[in-house]
Amino acid sequence: MHLSSNEIIGRFAPSPTGSLHSGSLVAAVGSWLLAKAGGGRWLLRIDDLDAPRQVPGMVDDILRTLESFGLTWDGELYWQSRHKEAYLQAFDQLLQQGVLYPCGCSRKEIALSSSAPHHDDDCRPYPGSCRNGMRAGAVVRSWRVRVSAEEICFDDLRRGRVCQRLGERCGDFALRRGDGGFAYQLAVVVDDHLSGVNQVVRGDDLLPSTPRQIYLQRLLGLPQPAYCHLPLVTGPAGAKLSKRDNLVSHHLGNWTGRERALLLAVLRFLGLDPPRELAGAACGEILGWGIGHFDPARIPLAGGELQL
Ligand code: GLU
Repeated sequence: MHLSSNEIIGRFAPSPTGSLHSGSLVAAVGSWLLAKAGGGRWLLRIDDLDAPRQVPGMVDDILRTLESFGLTWDGELYWQSRHKEAYLQAFDQLLQQGVLYPCGCSRKEIALSSSAPHHDDDCRPYPGSCRNGMRAGAVVRSWRVRVSAEEICFDDLRRGRVCQRLGERCGDFALRRGDGGFAYQLAVVVDDHLSGVNQVVRGDDLLPSTPRQIYLQRLLGLPQPAYCHLPLVTGPAGAKLSKRDNLVSHHLGNWTGRERALLLAVLRFLGLDPPRELAGAACGEILGWGIGHFDPARIPLAGGELQL
């Protein structure tokens, strides 16, 4: 399927490394509502590229949870692990374009040599040590893409104009590990294109990755989807949700039988004001009301605790 029609195609892409929590539910509901509000389709992708981090039984758990909230998906599930051939093709295309190079640096070496601040875990500014060749005898630990000096900007449906210089943020970033495994940044760009996704709605934690993904889309000649990054759910006093929070208070399994109350709380978190009468409604009806009222411009800028 390709982008020949004007139909909106959104998606939700959980990684089966744990159960869905209230933060994932915000991303699921937000992406569902925006796709449906535009008369579009909502696809479900299982981001199972990183085999060692997966937890057995999680895919079923995620599917059951989505169903219990009335979040039905369109078409077949898309499994990332079944598209390695497509990642390889994209990688080869970039290799032929001369924008990739092998890198022999370990994480530790990069951390030591990097003077720029370290922003997030997947992205230490890489100082470019192997840009002009690896030192003699080094083994290939990753394949990196050369970034350009230009500023990459996009218009986020909620955040407005967002700009980033990749060189300052992350430097030449890795697309493939030395053992052959592909990085999330490459996979997500290929996956969204292969499944015709033209609307990406996800949490603010992925906002800093978006310019890297846009850079890859431009190199590969792929269309750029619309982006909408959603506020993050936090614990008390703005604390980042910890694994423990996820497992205890935010684990959606603890909400069995109270899905409707949580769904209404998610709608309020997304800037909607559902009427009191909806309190007794089924999840499908609550979501149906949300379709008619969802507006990315009304989503609050700041995240916070989910108010029940
Ligand atoms: N699988 C990623 C995650 O669970 C989301 C990828 C995306 O939405 O682009 O964080």
